[in-house]
Amino acid sequence: MKFSWKNLLLWSLPVIIISFFIWQGFFATTINENNNNITNSRMTYGRFLEYLDMGWVKKVDIYDNGHTAIVEAIGPELGNRIQKIRVELPTSAPELINKLKRNNIDLDAHPTKNTIAFWNLIGNLLFPLLLITGLIFLFKRSNSTTGGPGQAMSFGKSKALFQMEAKTGIIFDDVAGIDEAKEEFEEIVTFLKKPEYFTAVGAKIPKGVLLIGPPGTGKTLLAKAIAGEANVPFFSISGSEFVEMFVGVGASRVRDLFKKAKENAPCIVFIDEIDAVGRQRGTGVGGGNDEREQTLNQLLTEMDGFEGNTGIIVIAATNRADILDAALLRPGRFDRQVNVDIPDFKGRLAILNVHAKNKKINPQISLSIIARRTPGFSGADLANLLNEAAILTARKHKSSISLNEIDEAIDRIVAGMEGTPLIDSKSKRLIAYHEIGHAIIGTLLEDHENVQKVTLIPRGQARGLTWFTPSEDQSLISRSQIKAKIMGALGGRAAEEIVFGDAEVTTGASNDLQQVTSMARQMVTRFGMSSIGPLSLENEDSNPFLGRSMANTNEYSDEIAIKIDKQIYNIVQECHKKTLKIIKNNRVIIDKLVDILIEKETIDGQEFRNIISQYTTIPIKK
Ligand code: ADP
Ligand code: MG
Ligand code: ZN
Repeated sequence: MKFSWKNLLLWSLPVIIISFFIWQGFFATTINENNNNITNSRMTYGRFLEYLDMGWVKKVDIYDNGHTAIVEAIGPELGNRIQKIRVELPTSAPELINKLKRNNIDLDAHPTKNTIAFWNLIGNLLFPLLLITGLIFLFKRSNSTTGGPGQAMSFGKSKALFQMEAKTGIIFDDVAGIDEAKEEFEEIVTFLKKPEYFTAVGAKIPKGVLLIGPPGTGKTLLAKAIAGEANVPFFSISGSEFVEMFVGVGASRVRDLFKKAKENAPCIVFIDEIDAVGRQRGTGVGGGNDEREQTLNQLLTEMDGFEGNTGIIVIAATNRADILDAALLRPGRFDRQVNVDIPDFKGRLAILNVHAKNKKINPQISLSIIARRTPGFSGADLANLLNEAAILTARKHKSSISLNEIDEAIDRIVAGMEGTPLIDSKSKRLIAYHEIGHAIIGTLLEDHENVQKVTLIPRGQARGLTWFTPSEDQSLISRSQIKAKIMGALGGRAAEEIVFGDAEVTTGASNDLQQVTSMARQMVTRFGMSSIGPLSLENEDSNPFLGRSMANTNEYSDEIAIKIDKQIYNIVQECHKKTLKIIKNNRVIIDKLVDILIEKETIDGQEFRNIISQYTTIPIKK
């Protein structure tokens, strides 16, 4: 919006009108209160004249330009006491004053209305005047920061809009475990360093690169590394900062950002969380978001505006490319897309190596043990893990990080802070049975992941925990593995039921049951693992703009819906029965394990398996 008197007027007009009503209302009430304070009793004009004739009236005060009179009268009707009575005077009563004078009645006129009207007027003007001054001040200030009038105005101007780092100081060696992404980027560095190689053969430098991956996988780091390697400035802004309350502010920020970038080309412009602005347009539930659309349009315009070879490369990051507006992904915009995934074992090892460099780690620890224990950890998790371990080491006044601190740090990251253990009580025994229930099912079922440890030391929300060693490959899971998982999750409740009886089971299993139900449902509706057959009936996250439960618009008939529920029920029932049976058959071992657990509070996986193999003939895994 440009600064002009017309704009100012447009802004201030509603303000003036609103404030007029506010002050009107305010003064009206004060006037009434003033008069009401004088008297509450009233009489008609006719009665007042009668009182006059009777000679009961002693004094008359006239207010409101002669519209109201407060009469002091005394008479038998008034209990022979002087009373103040209010009278509304008719406008045409000129003879009244003369009559009062003739009767020698004390008369006084108060120009109330005028003074109040005066203050009223001042009041009406004062408030909007203040506001207009304020507005002018705002306009002036926002103009002066950008230099002279006629500039774009924005309320966000005073805030730091984007960060600029002249030198990021990050190189490719700081980024590990995402080699494909890195390769892609080495080329971009060459684009920035030696554009003539490409322009000589008529190649256009890519304008935009989209980094797609879960949080903490090193997207920001990678973008900084490009700037660092190419030795160019790094501009960054987060998509959420574009989304403002005032329509147009986001767009003006985009303009500002690109203006600065052009002045500093070659450079990298990094837009984090681009999904905040770059969502598909016109899909918002309950109407679109004007502000976001304008911002997005501005971004597209800017990207189209600079020619391929100005040396600005826009890198954007998101964790969901599926919801981005197609216009963003078109050639000439973010036409290169690079996936950055959660690292695998090799990747984790490489990342650990990077972050272990500046830490004192006991030379006996091999980082591959840590990498093995941390499937699913992102780069940020791993960096955090080593840092937590270092903090714990310092707290214990040790000289180097040992496996103990690493273990503790992993547990802390996965399950939260450690609490104090319960004292021996019935509920501690119940928790022990519950956890041993999970652990024994996990151990006796061939297809279940191995128990890593069982503990009664509370952590985060959990009052006891059974840890399993996650398998490396989580992407392909067989039906019997899912069933084993369901049974393992049911193990806790099953042990409670058998040992303490139906009446004593606790709410501790609610989380387990949630998982059980969700796994069973997915078996039926997504993986075709029930007798309904190989049908995909629901897909995860089909509509990213609605909440998950809302999004599941059933594409199947009610008949199928009933079948689905029945299948889920059958799966859970069957697993529950089997679980109960295993618990019953192994009651002796379970009791023994619970005693050990209560005494030691933690049993690690190998020890757990050793104890079981002493009591059973079933072959125990590894
Ligand atoms: P994202 O932007 O993907 O959410 P970041 O780049 O902000 O993740 O990563 C946060 C931190 O995690 C980095 O500063 C770095 O210390 C660490 N990190 C993440 N990924 C890696 C990686 N691949 N190599 C080395 N360190 C990493
Ligand atoms: Mg980031
Ligand atoms: Zn449980």
